[in-house]
Amino acid sequence: STQIQLVSRPVGWPTESDFRTVSVELPELAPGQLRVQNLFLSVDPYMRGRMNDARSYVAPYQLGETMTGGAIGRVVESAAEGFSVGDVVLHQFGWRDLVQEDASGFRVVPELPGVPLSAYLGVLGMTALTAYVGLLEVAKFREGDTVFVSGAAGAVGTMVGQIARLKGAKRVIGSAGSAEKVALLTEKYGYDAAFNYKDGPVTEQLAAAAPDGIDVYFDNVGGEHLEAAIDAFNDGGRAALCGVISQINDTERAEGPRNLSNIVTRGLTLTGFTVGNYTQHFPAFSGEMGAWLQNGDVVFDETVYEGLDHTLDAFLALMRGANTGKMVVKL
Ligand code: NDP
Repeated sequence: STQIQLVSRPVGWPTESDFRTVSVELPELAPGQLRVQNLFLSVDPYMRGRMNDARSYVAPYQLGETMTGGAIGRVVESAAEGFSVGDVVLHQFGWRDLVQEDASGFRVVPELPGVPLSAYLGVLGMTALTAYVGLLEVAKFREGDTVFVSGAAGAVGTMVGQIARLKGAKRVIGSAGSAEKVALLTEKYGYDAAFNYKDGPVTEQLAAAAPDGIDVYFDNVGGEHLEAAIDAFNDGGRAALCGVISQINDTERAEGPRNLSNIVTRGLTLTGFTVGNYTQHFPAFSGEMGAWLQNGDVVFDETVYEGLDHTLDAFLALMRGANTGKMVVKL
């Protein structure tokens, strides 16, 4: 099995030298084990946080160990009851081509006609669940709300906008980092208005896009975007704080929003969350999302890098914004 391991903790942006590729000889299957050929690997922003030796909601990666993370593969050998060769399985064993582990670490998923297996890492998986629970449970979205989404063209963001629209938002506004992405937001993803945050101050662009203010902010980005949302909020506004990708490779602590007094005066609620604490909503999510997908009510993009040896490139490109929708690596 060829595997990618973290060997040093990146300072700022990760580099090639923080990783190594190793070849591991797999022993014969022990009873209860599966051998799985990976088909798609997930690269996700949270992985950058795990590369630091810092307290977080998931333990740091250990140096010299293979990078774990979401992946989908096919069983090529089984010594476990209930798993057959050819089954498609979802797991968390990460950046490697072949996985051999106890069957308890794998979940069989169905192959759906017309849906690529990579969807289990995105639109049918973790990132879309994040969008669903973040909007509906954390931000407590209500019909008629005006919703602002940052990182709107990414895996989570493309889903937030569409779910808000399907659930009866009054107006959905998104921001992203290129003209192409901004065009996609209004043309494909049902946003009423969108802007490129690189074109000018976010506060000004948001005020122009949301003349009547916003009720809900889904924050994938932090920093200037959060401050802009706090300026644009109507009384009783609610934010789901999902991620701080604008600061993910910072080596210095970023300055906080300078308008926190609005939280008091407008009675705002800003709630951070991690999707792992909302997995009880997975059945409701997969029911609704499955139907939306089947009816064509939800559409999705994926950006696909090819080859295990391009996994790190894909991860870095994700943080630079080279992806539209979910970034995955195809093996
Ligand atoms: P995305 O698919 O959205 O990819 C990351 C995107 O971030 C890039 O495409 C880029 O798009 C954008 N970006 C990069 N730098 C900046 C910047 N300085 N300012 C604004 N945007 C930037 O990733 P995900 O959908 O997987 O994740 C989105 C967010 O949600 C992340 O913050 C992630 O950490 C968080 N997350 C949180 C979870 C939770 O449980 N709380 C679970 C899953 C994700 P652009 O071209 O627009 O700049």
